[in-house]
Amino acid sequence: MFRSHTCGELRLEHANSTVTLAGWVQTVRKFGSITFVDLRDRYGITQLLFGEELNSQLDANPLGREFVLQVTGQVQERSNKNPNIPTGAIEIKVSSFNILNKSAVPPFTIQDDTDGGDDLRMKYRFLDLRRNAVKKNLELRYAVNRSARNYLHEHHFMDIETPFLIKSTPEGARDFVVPSRMNAGQFYALPQSPQTFKQLLMVSGYDRYYQIVKCFRDEDLRADRQPEFTQIDCEMCFVEQEDILNTFEGLIKRIFKDVKGIDYTDKVERMSWEDAMWTYGNDKPDIRFGMQLLNLKFPAHTFPGRPSISNLIDGANFGVFDNAETVVAIAVPGCSEYTRKQTDELTDWVKRPQIGMMGLAFIKYNADGTLKSSVDKFYDEARLKAIAEAAGAKAGDLILILAGAEERTRKAMSELRLEMGKRLGLRKENEFKLLWVLDFPLFEYDPEENRWVARHHPFTSPKPDQIKTMIDNEPSIKDAARYLEHPYANIKANAYDMVLNGNEIGGGSIRIYQRDLQEKMFAALGMSEEEALHKFGFLLGAFEYGAPPHGGIAFGFDRLCSILGGSESIRDFIAFPKNNSGRDVMLDAPSTIDDKQLKELSIATKLND
Ligand code: ASP
Repeated sequence: MFRSHTCGELRLEHANSTVTLAGWVQTVRKFGSITFVDLRDRYGITQLLFGEELNSQLDANPLGREFVLQVTGQVQERSNKNPNIPTGAIEIKVSSFNILNKSAVPPFTIQDDTDGGDDLRMKYRFLDLRRNAVKKNLELRYAVNRSARNYLHEHHFMDIETPFLIKSTPEGARDFVVPSRMNAGQFYALPQSPQTFKQLLMVSGYDRYYQIVKCFRDEDLRADRQPEFTQIDCEMCFVEQEDILNTFEGLIKRIFKDVKGIDYTDKVERMSWEDAMWTYGNDKPDIRFGMQLLNLKFPAHTFPGRPSISNLIDGANFGVFDNAETVVAIAVPGCSEYTRKQTDELTDWVKRPQIGMMGLAFIKYNADGTLKSSVDKFYDEARLKAIAEAAGAKAGDLILILAGAEERTRKAMSELRLEMGKRLGLRKENEFKLLWVLDFPLFEYDPEENRWVARHHPFTSPKPDQIKTMIDNEPSIKDAARYLEHPYANIKANAYDMVLNGNEIGGGSIRIYQRDLQEKMFAALGMSEEEALHKFGFLLGAFEYGAPPHGGIAFGFDRLCSILGGSESIRDFIAFPKNNSGRDVMLDAPSTIDDKQLKELSIATKLND
């Protein structure tokens, strides 16, 4: 028997029993003739006491950090107990020990507060994984995985594997490709997601499918993206949107319960995409706090049917507002006493290139009811008060106003709102607020190619009452500057995203399941008939053999774990992640391959300058 117990298991009640432990040496402390060793394994740390009688053996076989050690001895009560660890009441009085393996001196300390920088820890990730902080994250990931599987299994979902070596399935990113040796000059693509496979499984009658599966996207990596990441991927047939929302709301609530012990009993709020953009400037709003946008001015075609309130700012001869496409405000609670220095700092904040605004206007709605503003040259107190109150401000609040082009200004205000929420402590780590965002636009305009692209992916169905708009109108855009006036711009999709604390954690849609509508969709995206057949002939063909109505969703598993774990980075929740340039610094991949391998693949490399 290698070990009788783990290093996290022994308590006072085990005193006097003889045990054998195995693990890694975390620290060695010598006090006169006795030596204390902290022995670590996955389950915890146990203190070992080597008495004087073992000194000559220890001298002959000195212990070092991260040595792999097996010890046998008696459990005894400790005189100075450590209340901070579960095994802190006992120690093992070692009677014999066996060094199972030595270790080189590790490049950083394997403790909660390590001295290793990011790069070093990534290079020696197998050592970093020994640290508690990282282990806790992987344990949480496994708990989420188990919880999801249990829930889905109980709801009759079946885990079915789908292939990795496939044909390109465009979902908005570039494919990773794999050359085929047996088919010279031809390539597989790695799946951006199992989208078309899960739809085919519906055609095959597996009415509830799931998979916790790797997806591969060759994107320019923004700070917190990985080229390979994991989804909880699901599909159902004979369902409507409502069934999907209920089923997967249930899944996330179950994960909250199992992993965090949180009873999320509230119904998940729902908001249309348009309302989200209008109220928060963002399609994944953090609804843990208010500070909703006051739309003082906006282009009518962006939000058709919303009443204009620009009379609140019009006619004051203030060029910045008069010439802006969009003017938006938020009321920041309790900040009317901001100093000049603080408002200047906020102005600099919105002028940073990432935010890109020219300036920031503000109104201080003082506690005594008076108003002071950076624009009081143009607006008298009554008008300032009207603006402040329209923004929902009370005495004591600070109103921040941005003006400029619609898209940029809305985005900037959304960022400013989040920043102020953070500064005021309104984005609490331990508060979780879910939201369904519904009714996304079906299409987005791609100015570079002057055509429509699918906002979600090409298999997403339009709202039933808008199918006719899609069929009756040609996709071509004659005047790029006025693309928003094209009938396609207002077609909404049967698509939904689940948002948690301002992060999109999942998204999906009710799919197209009729061949003719799917063909029309490909045509709307500028695909010729031949191209559609070449890329998606298999799916179009399958739709001719009794395809049932179906829909699904996929959750970003890594992101979900990072939010539940209270971390900003998904990397912390992946055992072997890549760095921000998509490199695995431990393996040193990607790397070149030798000429023999290239030859077998019938490939010659020629790098572009
Ligand atoms: N395959 C989609 C994605 O990866 C999710 C879905 O529509 O189910 O975003």
